[in-house]
Amino acid sequence: MPDRGAAAARVESLRREIEHHAHRYYVLDSPEVSDDAYDALVRELEGLEARWPDLVTPDSPTRRVGAPPSETFEPARHARRMYSLDNAMDFSELDAWFDRIEKDLGRRDCAFVAELKIDGSSLSLTYKEGRLTRAATRGDGTTGENITANVRAVRSVPLRLRDEARPPAAQGALLDTPEDDAHRPWPAIEVRGEVYMPKSSFARLNADQDEAGLPVFANPRNAAAGAVRQKDPSVTASRDLSTFMYQIADPRPLALSRQSEALAWLARAGFRVNPDIRLCASRDEVRDFCETAIERRHDLPYEIDGVVVKVDSFALQDGMGFTARAPRWAMAFKFPPEEKTTVLRAIRVQVGRTGALTPVAEFDPVLVAGSTIARATLHNEDEVRRKDVRVGDTVIVRKAGDVIPEVVGPVPGLRPEGAAEWTMPATCPSCGGPIWRPAGEVAARCTNVACPAQRLERLLHWAGRTAADIDGLGYEITARLVETGGLHDVADFYRLDAEALATLDTGRLKKDGTPIVLGETIAAKLAVSIEASKTRPLPRLLYGFGIRHVGSTVADALAAAFGSIDALVATPAESIAVVDGIGPVIAASVRAFFDNPDNIVVVEKLRAAGVRLVEEQRGPTVPQTLAGLTFVLTGGLVKYSRDEAGAALKALGAKVSSSVSKKTSFVVVGEDPGSKHDRALELGVPVLDEAALDRILQTGEPPRS
Ligand code: NAD
Repeated sequence: MPDRGAAAARVESLRREIEHHAHRYYVLDSPEVSDDAYDALVRELEGLEARWPDLVTPDSPTRRVGAPPSETFEPARHARRMYSLDNAMDFSELDAWFDRIEKDLGRRDCAFVAELKIDGSSLSLTYKEGRLTRAATRGDGTTGENITANVRAVRSVPLRLRDEARPPAAQGALLDTPEDDAHRPWPAIEVRGEVYMPKSSFARLNADQDEAGLPVFANPRNAAAGAVRQKDPSVTASRDLSTFMYQIADPRPLALSRQSEALAWLARAGFRVNPDIRLCASRDEVRDFCETAIERRHDLPYEIDGVVVKVDSFALQDGMGFTARAPRWAMAFKFPPEEKTTVLRAIRVQVGRTGALTPVAEFDPVLVAGSTIARATLHNEDEVRRKDVRVGDTVIVRKAGDVIPEVVGPVPGLRPEGAAEWTMPATCPSCGGPIWRPAGEVAARCTNVACPAQRLERLLHWAGRTAADIDGLGYEITARLVETGGLHDVADFYRLDAEALATLDTGRLKKDGTPIVLGETIAAKLAVSIEASKTRPLPRLLYGFGIRHVGSTVADALAAAFGSIDALVATPAESIAVVDGIGPVIAASVRAFFDNPDNIVVVEKLRAAGVRLVEEQRGPTVPQTLAGLTFVLTGGLVKYSRDEAGAALKALGAKVSSSVSKKTSFVVVGEDPGSKHDRALELGVPVLDEAALDRILQTGEPPRS
């Protein structure tokens, strides 16, 4: 046991260290140490403060929640503090909490609500008169960050509360019929919950970050926190976030008296509420819920790190109150982290589709979090250095966000003698081409565009399940097709026929030394898959091109706005940028892709091969009678919003542009038109009124110019 002087010094240094890590975690979304390492520091500090209570200060991290908000956003003061939760690390700690509650309340019949502990970022939503007016992070519990613009882009957040959730009529009201619903006033309501990133989106985001040479996120929670704290809301929109709401800051105006009722109200009001909730009459039922949650955690599409147990009755909750950082009426039962050790056998360098070089750890197969893993990305050279992992090391492995295999680091003391530090090779391991690492970026890249490994990755991306989905076309066959010269770009898939595929040399040999070919059966199946991939929905093709920043969500938005590859190819960056969910960065990247003549050649080859390049519903059903015509809309329309009119014109194959040029076919002029009308007259571009527009949309006939 240290003496008081030594303890005081250690307390001081622990506080500084914890504050540093809390800042990296909560403000920068980029932790440097694992949660266990951080928790160990906090527990050591708690131990010292318990032993020497006079060393406790109100600003100690053990008395505080999170970290002060960053200055990038407007501060958002919470009307009621947002707390953290106390943790029970095992069932005996959970039992100790139940014992305390029974003692405090003097009764054993307290009901609890058990909920999953979603590993996301805390979110507060304020509704005034039933409309979303503010979204905020937790920050330090007292003041968070105002992230309203970003949260509006999260689809599961209702912008208006549903009428059926209006509180009962004020006392004394004569009538309370359903017709009255719309007239009863809404009290101001603050709702709290978690914004999170599904496991699959987290895995995709990190793969994209790697490819772009950007730092990866340690877990879905940091990724979600980072996504809602973007300067550009369209980036938030592209990150595929979702929410589960679980608390009403002040339930009194809603006449709710229990947490279980509050959850039901939240669902009625239009919030997403986690379905795995159990009202438990005893601690055994809570324990049963926890055990089931531990079993099922790997099957859920989002990460959970425990179960939150809450006293159901608000009256009892009010009687129990809060400690400095957490409610006394709730407890987080935390799941143990799943980590294993194994031996690192090799570090291989993989070449991505944009040439990014990624070191990948290969280790003895080991069962972690429900599946066997044998490889894990080490992301980049700096990361290998930082973790200091060397071939031959015994390493600790786990799954980040429950999905991505991760090497945590070496086990100290088990390093074999002479294990050498790893360095990035000087040339590309695939093509031997030069490697370039731009200043300030973490990714090294092979700069040879003809590098076969890059080509292979681009082709595999196209054939992948979330893109053109060419069933049965795996790594091996694609690699052979590249090696034998049959595949250069994605359009070449459509030149392959069953006959040619049947004789493809697989590169393997029979026992008698003759080469094994693919054979007619597999070739025939593959030919069918290739044919089927010609009619995939447009967003999948857009995603399949592998355009930087165009993930599935962005591809959906682009396809919905433009309806065809041709429309997108013809649209300037400024007009792409105004699409909901797309900003200038994504627009520039899309533009750059289609400005590259090589990519246009591929588009034309795809068209010639019969690949459908238009949105599913539009292509065959709506005749593209306005194809080749460009419209500009200006001024207010009576019957349509400008967006609706634009979408309707596009559905008929027209292009809709935001600026008038000599190439504009028609300018549609509504009320109070602006300078675009003048410009149309100046350039002699034909002008249409709303009645003419209406005729076009009703008949589908182009106007006569
Ligand atoms: P916490 O995550 O352990 O628990 C509190 C939070 O749980 C609440 O604020 C709420 O947002 C969330 N939650 C999820 N589902 C809930 C539900 N159904 N009901 C109520 N709340 C629910 O506490 P914390 O204070 O947010 O963070 C502490 C955690 O962060 C620890 O695990 C710690 O290891 C980690 N951390 C790590 C570092 C690092 O450097 N690695 C630094 C700081 C914190």
